[in-house]
Amino acid sequence: MTTWDVIIVGAGQAGSAAAWDLARSGLQVLVLHRPGRRAKPCAGGLTMKTLQRYRFDIGPVIRERIDTLHVGGSRPGRVALSAPSLFCVMTERGELDAYCLEQAREQGAQVAAVTGLKAVTQNHHGVTVTDSQGRRYAGRYLLAADGANSSVARLLGLPRHAGAMAIEGLVPRQALSDWPGMTLDFDALPGGYGWLFPKGDHVNVGLYIWQHRLGGADRPALDAYCRRTLGCTPDQVAGYPLGTWLPQGRLSQGRILFVGDAAGCTESLLGEGIYGAVLSGQWAAQALLGPAPAQHYQRAMQPWREELRQVNQLSRLFYPLRPVSTRILQGRLGSTLVEGFARGLTLGQCKRRWRGAGFSGWQDPVVPDSAVG
Ligand SMILES: Cc1cc2nc3c(=O)[nH]c(=O)nc-3n(C[C@H](O)[C@H](O)[C@H](O)COP(=O)(O)OP(=O)(O)OC[C@H]3O[C@@H](n4cnc5c(N)ncnc54)[C@H](O)[C@@H]3O)c2cc1C
Repeated sequence: MTTWDVIIVGAGQAGSAAAWDLARSGLQVLVLHRPGRRAKPCAGGLTMKTLQRYRFDIGPVIRERIDTLHVGGSRPGRVALSAPSLFCVMTERGELDAYCLEQAREQGAQVAAVTGLKAVTQNHHGVTVTDSQGRRYAGRYLLAADGANSSVARLLGLPRHAGAMAIEGLVPRQALSDWPGMTLDFDALPGGYGWLFPKGDHVNVGLYIWQHRLGGADRPALDAYCRRTLGCTPDQVAGYPLGTWLPQGRLSQGRILFVGDAAGCTESLLGEGIYGAVLSGQWAAQALLGPAPAQHYQRAMQPWREELRQVNQLSRLFYPLRPVSTRILQGRLGSTLVEGFARGLTLGQCKRRWRGAGFSGWQDPVVPDSAVG
């Protein structure tokens, strides 16, 4: 049996980002991919900071470019917040994932299709994964990039990392008389917001709830929101949890590193998770190139985990204090946010800017170009 340097479970945004960097550095990488399913439920909105993290041009899968955000909330009517330049682009998640996996393949990552996992075991030398058909894969390290419902975590007896929840559907362009701009409606449901993301041939419509246990982001609520905003009901409805920050969150266990939603890397206020997925995938890859990967990775991720914790506190204040907080968001805070997003800042960095505090960023690891570990 081949012993891979790194086995990656999951070909989402975290998995493909890690695979690209590791393969580029010359490591033998195997990505265990679960094809044949519908794309991961995701609205596919990428802010500039996310766009800037990709190692390659994702232009071919960009469907719309956005410089204005419409915010609905406590004021009657929506407020349009315009950024000085692009602050977000829209992608279709199935297209984005397929494109990023292909980029990793071109760097030399190998991909094997699995339908599920049956067992994950590890010792001092490596990790063995058994898929649901009994095939075994051995690696020196394993990256669990398998999302908020991580099978790797489940097989190791660790808790799921799903704090938030979202449900989405699609409305084809021909069903609409008016084409909406990118919209977040904070009066759509308590503890969350509704969104409209235009993507060329359809609008992605959805509901986000920052704490799963609050409930309310369900099919009847989505149908009602969609009827109210677009005058029809959506197709292809699907919901999924999001791996937001949790105090007891884990980043590693032995030779297994968790990345993306499997590690709780999504911020909880708006549920933006692709940034944390790409960032953690790249930082885990960097850690795997040196000695003591788990310790290196924990250290590298500390500032991002701290930002996620602070945004979690903000969500705790923001949602119970509506409509006051949405009025603030419709004003100067919202303008600071879209301007900051256009400059490639994170939500926490925008907030510090809004409060007049200086920004101290984190040390971004060097792009790996040679294997050392
Ligand atoms: C409805 C919705 C809308 C969202 N919209 C946005 C948005 O617009 N912008 C944004 O930034 N974030 C958004 N998010 C959050 C974002 O989708 C996630 O944070 C992000 O996708 C996490 O990436 P990941 O690679 O960690 O996990 P995932 O995207 O969940 O990818 C995990 C991958 O692992 C695979 N997998 C799982 N189990 C196995 C297994 N046993 N074997 C092999 N493969 C496996 C899955 O099939 C999947 O491909 C949204 C989330 C939801 C639910």
